[in-house]
Amino acid sequence: CSEIIFCTSGGCDSSDSCPLTQTETEGEHREVQHIHNHGGREVFLEITTSPITDDNGVIRQVVHVARDITERKRAEQEIQQLAYYDTLTSLPNRTLLKDRLGQALAQASRSSEQIGVMFLDLDRFKGVNDTLGHAVGDQLLKTVSSRLSAALRRSDTVARLGGDEFVIVVSLVPHAEYLADVAAKILAIVAQPARIANHDLFLTGSIGMALFPSDGDTVDTLLKHADIAMYQAKEKGRNTYQFFSHEMNTKALERMALETSLRQALERNEFFLLYQPQYALGNGQIVGVEALLRWQHPELGVVRPGQFIPLAEETGLILPIGEWVLRRATSDGCRWLQQNLPFQRIAVNISPHQCRQQDPGYLGRLLKEVGFPPTSLELELTETSIMENPREIASKLRLFQEMGVALAIDDFGTGYSSLNYLKHFPLDRLKIAQTFVRDSGKSLGDAAIAEAIIGLAHALRLRVIAEGVETMEQLTFLRERGCNEVQGYLTGRPMPAEELEQLLSSGRNEVGQMLTSY
Ligand code: C2E
Ligand code: CA
Repeated sequence: CSEIIFCTSGGCDSSDSCPLTQTETEGEHREVQHIHNHGGREVFLEITTSPITDDNGVIRQVVHVARDITERKRAEQEIQQLAYYDTLTSLPNRTLLKDRLGQALAQASRSSEQIGVMFLDLDRFKGVNDTLGHAVGDQLLKTVSSRLSAALRRSDTVARLGGDEFVIVVSLVPHAEYLADVAAKILAIVAQPARIANHDLFLTGSIGMALFPSDGDTVDTLLKHADIAMYQAKEKGRNTYQFFSHEMNTKALERMALETSLRQALERNEFFLLYQPQYALGNGQIVGVEALLRWQHPELGVVRPGQFIPLAEETGLILPIGEWVLRRATSDGCRWLQQNLPFQRIAVNISPHQCRQQDPGYLGRLLKEVGFPPTSLELELTETSIMENPREIASKLRLFQEMGVALAIDDFGTGYSSLNYLKHFPLDRLKIAQTFVRDSGKSLGDAAIAEAIIGLAHALRLRVIAEGVETMEQLTFLRERGCNEVQGYLTGRPMPAEELEQLLSSGRNEVGQMLTSY
C-alpha cells in the first residue's frame, strides 16, 4: 500500500498528542517522515494533513494521507550523488568541493583561521592508462582515493576533479609547515606500491598549495593558485610539493598570454621560415639547408623558437605548427627545384611530441600533395625523441627511410643516447651540438666529446655535421678531426627564402672557396 488514509474525528487540536507538528489550522500541511519498518528497511512517508471544516468554519475532521515516497527519495538521493560525487571514487566532485570550500572560507574568516588548498596530480598516470588499460588505471585511482580519505581528518575534504587530479582542503592550518607536513604525508601515501591485476605499480604525485587568506580569499583564486603551484612542482622534477608565490602568478599570466597569441599566430599567418646553408668541408658545396622557424609577434617583434616551442609542445600546438613548417619548407623547396637551384636537401626540425605523433603515411601524403620529392627532405630528430620508445621509433624511422627521407639526430651529445640502440636506427647523420663546437678550442672535455662524436659517426658509417661554427679556429679543429660538414654563422646565418634563392642562383660560392682554400 503506498497511500494510507486515516481520519481524526473532532479535529486535532492538541499539538502535543499529534504525531505531526501542525503549523496551520487551515489549509494543508505536509511533512516527510523517515522511519525504519519492521524488516529494518528505510521508508520515507510523506504525510499530508488536511482539516475538514463545517459551514461555520469549525474543524470537524482531519484527514491524514500518508504516501510512501521511498522510491522518489532514492531517486533524489541518486541524483544528489551524481551531482555532487565522482562516480568512480565516490569522492566529492568539483561542485561539492567548491561548495564545501566556500563554507570553510566563510567559517575561517569569522574565526581568523588559515585553510590550506592542495592540488594533487599523479605523475605519469597517463602512462598507466596507455600501457595497462583503463580498467587498471581506474582501479589505481580508487586505491589512491581510499588511501587519501583514510589518511585525512574528518574535517578535511578530498575531492576528485576528474582524470588524475585531486584537491584536498585542509582546515585549521596553524602554520605553513603544518601544511608542508600534510603534503609530505600525502606524497608518501601515493608512493606506496599498489598491486593491481598482477602488476606492482609505483606512482608518485606532485602537489601545489595555496593558503587562505594570504594566497587568495576566494574559492576560485585559491584553486587557481594551488594549480599554478602544482605545475611548478612538476617542473621541479615531480614527486614533490610547492607553495604558491605571487611571482608564479605573474609567470603564469605571461604564459597564458603567450599561449593565447600562439594559438592565433597560425590563423594570422605570423610564422615564417629562415634557411641556413650547410656546407661540405671536402668540396665546399652546399649539401643542405635547415629550415628555422620564426614568429613575427605583433608586439614582441621576431620571437625565436626557444621562447615558444616548449609551450607549443606542452599545449599540443606543435602539431599544427609543425605541419605548417613542413608545408612551407617543402613548397619553398618545390619552387627551388623548378628553378634548378642546387639546395640538395631541406632539413626540418621535428620536436619530441611531433615525433611521437608523426605518422609516415601522413608525411607521405603531405609530400605528394605538395609535390615535393621525399629524397630532398631530411628530418632532424632529438635524442630524447628517439630514446623515449626506441623499438617503436626504430620501425617508424625505417618507414621514413623506405620513402627516401633522410634522418639526422640533432644536438647530438646533449641527450642520453644508448649507443647500443643507435646502430639499430636507420640514420644518415649526426649533428654535433653547438656547445661542444663552441668550446672545443677552450675546453679539453668539449674537444674530446666533439672528437668522439666524429669517431662514433664514422664507425657507424654516418655523416657528421657540426653546428654553430663561428670561428676559423673551430673550423680548423673540426676539419682536422675529419668532420664532414659545417653549419654556422661563419659560413652563413639563417636567411629569408629570397636571400637563399639569390645565394643559390648566383653561382658564386665565396664560402666554398674559403672552405677549400687551405
Ligand atoms: P637547433 O636545431 O639546434 O638549431 C640551431 C640553432 O642555432 C638555431 O637557432 C640557429 O639560428 C642557431 N645558430 C646557427 N648557427 C649559429 C652559430 O654559428 N652560432 C650560434 N650561437 N647560433 C647559431 P634558432 O633558430 O633559434 O632555433 C633554436 C631551436 O629551435 C633549434 O635548435 C630547434 O631545435 C628549434 N626549432 C627551430 N625551428 C623549428 C621548427 O620548425 N620546429 C621545431 N620543432 N623546432 C624548431
Ligand atoms: Ca636542428
